Amino acid sequence: MSEQITIIGGGIGGLTLALALEQKNIDYQLYEQAQSFEALGYGLQLSPNVVRVFRQWGLEKNLAKISHRCFGFELRSFEGDNILARWKLNSDVPYYQCRRADLHQLLFNSIKDHRKIHFSQRLEGYEQKNKLVHLHFTNQNSLTTGALIGADGVRSQIRKTLFPSYKAEYAGYSAYRAILPFQDSYQPLLGKATVWMGENHHVVAYANGNQGEKTQWLNLVLVLKDSNWQEQGWTIPANKQEIAQNFKNTSPLLNEILKEMISNTEPCYKWGLFTHNPLPYWSEGKTTILGDAAHPMLPFQAQGAAMAIEDAYILAQCIAQKNTIETAFGNYEKLRLRRTARVQQTSRNNADIFHATGIKAMVRNLGLGLISSVNGQLLNQKTAWIYNYDVTSLWSS
Ligand SMILES: Cc1cc2nc3c(=O)[nH]c(=O)nc-3n(C[C@H](O)[C@H](O)[C@H](O)COP(=O)(O)OP(=O)(O)OC[C@H]3O[C@@H](n4cnc5c(N)ncnc54)[C@H](O)[C@@H]3O)c2cc1C
Repeated sequence: MSEQITIIGGGIGGLTLALALEQKNIDYQLYEQAQSFEALGYGLQLSPNVVRVFRQWGLEKNLAKISHRCFGFELRSFEGDNILARWKLNSDVPYYQCRRADLHQLLFNSIKDHRKIHFSQRLEGYEQKNKLVHLHFTNQNSLTTGALIGADGVRSQIRKTLFPSYKAEYAGYSAYRAILPFQDSYQPLLGKATVWMGENHHVVAYANGNQGEKTQWLNLVLVLKDSNWQEQGWTIPANKQEIAQNFKNTSPLLNEILKEMISNTEPCYKWGLFTHNPLPYWSEGKTTILGDAAHPMLPFQAQGAAMAIEDAYILAQCIAQKNTIETAFGNYEKLRLRRTARVQQTSRNNADIFHATGIKAMVRNLGLGLISSVNGQLLNQKTAWIYNYDVTSLWSS
């Protein structure tokens, strides 16, 4: 592959692609709009399909060091501390929970040549002409490249150019995200992901923190069905009284956590959740997209970063196959379109399950309780197509 490759965006997807290309000795340059990588503390769950990629690169030990291991799931109701269902994961590949900033740092540190990563470079627009891609940056810089890959997230400039009519729309849900110091009384939440389900709202809690640090954290995501997103931005400082109002419950443990969240001086933000329907294709000529730029999804299956990592791994493999860049991009999207569209849909369906009301909620609670007590493995079967997938086995490297 002789074309110079340019990546726009140094999020989880862009950095994974940079690392994957470096591993294949393929030259690239990456441009990120931020001045440096922010220390975003929010949590990420990394399922076995992602962990296989880190294992393949010899990075699983490093990943384990920045993570807590999740052995299973627990679903609770907002009333009392009633456990509706619990089951153990049955994969021999671990499921981890870490902080996004730690994962980002791990990816960055694993890249040997940092001279290829350029900060404070915001792509303004591009055009394809004479078999080349011409890029324009907000700071007046411009450059010409042989291939352009947009890893520029849900508000992707590159997707907007490829698909002017596909706008990421507010999905009808907002999420509050917070990190709290882990208290002794949160012990029942260790080693698992816990979801409290209520009418039109749910809460996800899990421990995270770097094993090298003294303080461990509780990662909290509180999601609300909320038809209006009046705000101009995508995130706004949270109104803590609104949280208390919207997440009223009679679970002693959840109440203790919410009290702590409200009194804690750590900032808490409210995020509008934006998505769009699956795109019909991702590549045009010498340009393609990956991660949230290609398939923004609701976080209700915890697979957005996972899909970005799988995309990046596969895209680097396709580029390494010594085809033209157009063929490489075509092969990449053929391998990715169906799977990512299915994950997008599954994430959306989970919202209806978590937020069910009335009779639907009763049937859900009874069904989950019965299945998990009789044979919890049936619940693992529902996610097997996601977690058991192994991108590293598609090629023998
Ligand atoms: C509440 C919540 C919980 C989540 N939990 C999980 C989870 O548990 N597990 C999981 O797998 N996923 C989870 N996700 C999803 C995950 O965070 C995203 O899917 C993932 O971060 C997408 O990575 P990305 O690299 O595609 O995009 P981003 O992380 O958005 O990165 C895009 C990068 O591009 C840069 N950029 C944008 N525009 C430009 C431009 N014009 N020029 C230059 N640079 C630009 C940005 O600054 C940014 O650094 C969650 C999401 C939410 C909202």
